[in-house]
Amino acid sequence: MSSPTDAEQGDPIPPDTPDVDRDDLINGLLYVHGRLNMNARYALQAHAWLMGLIEVLDERGLVDKQKIEEKAKPLAAGLSKHFMQEGNGVFLQEPNIDKYSYEGLPQIDCESRVHLCKASCCRLQFAMSKQDVEEGIVRWELRQPYLIAVNENGYCTHLKEGTCHCTIYENRPGACRIFDCRNDKRIWLDFDKREINPRLNEPGWPGNVDLEA
Ligand code: SF4
Ligand code: SF4
Repeated sequence: MSSPTDAEQGDPIPPDTPDVDRDDLINGLLYVHGRLNMNARYALQAHAWLMGLIEVLDERGLVDKQKIEEKAKPLAAGLSKHFMQEGNGVFLQEPNIDKYSYEGLPQIDCESRVHLCKASCCRLQFAMSKQDVEEGIVRWELRQPYLIAVNENGYCTHLKEGTCHCTIYENRPGACRIFDCRNDKRIWLDFDKREINPRLNEPGWPGNVDLEA
């Protein structure tokens, strides 16, 4: 996904101003989110016990398990959506693979295509890995940990505006390394023919693209 910046190629672009409190903040949030995940695990265990209890009662003819499931499904979906929308959930990429160990990454000539694709790969928000968070280089959304941070135009904050150059290319997340736009219909209808998905230019992309269609 995207290419190295001029900075990596020798152009003297000043690096981000270091923030002395940033490491502490990140470590603190990692702790808080770790606790949140632990609480979620306990909630899941309680859920498993409840389900087990319903199974037993159903086997004994004391409750109608099917009816309970019918009622619970939409309720669970609604609660889960609300939970994530409220920023209570933690998005973390699993498994936490060492991003520097990836080999055979896609080789794409982004420079010759960016006028068509507008570097839209860097508008696809995704969860970072624990390695990214601990490294403290890739910025993430404080309100939606640990989705990669985007600007008001929906682009990753590490993209050099108007180009396909990643300003943290050497440290970019694993998702950026392995992403292959060639078969992503949200971007290219036909990669070889350089046919872009016209919906790319609509507001609400990529949510406006129905991949089933
Ligand atoms: S969408 Fe594909 S061609 Fe365009 S910048 Fe991203 S990786 Fe390169
Ligand atoms: S870190 Fe951001 S700018 Fe760099 S490749 Fe990933 S999405 Fe694009």
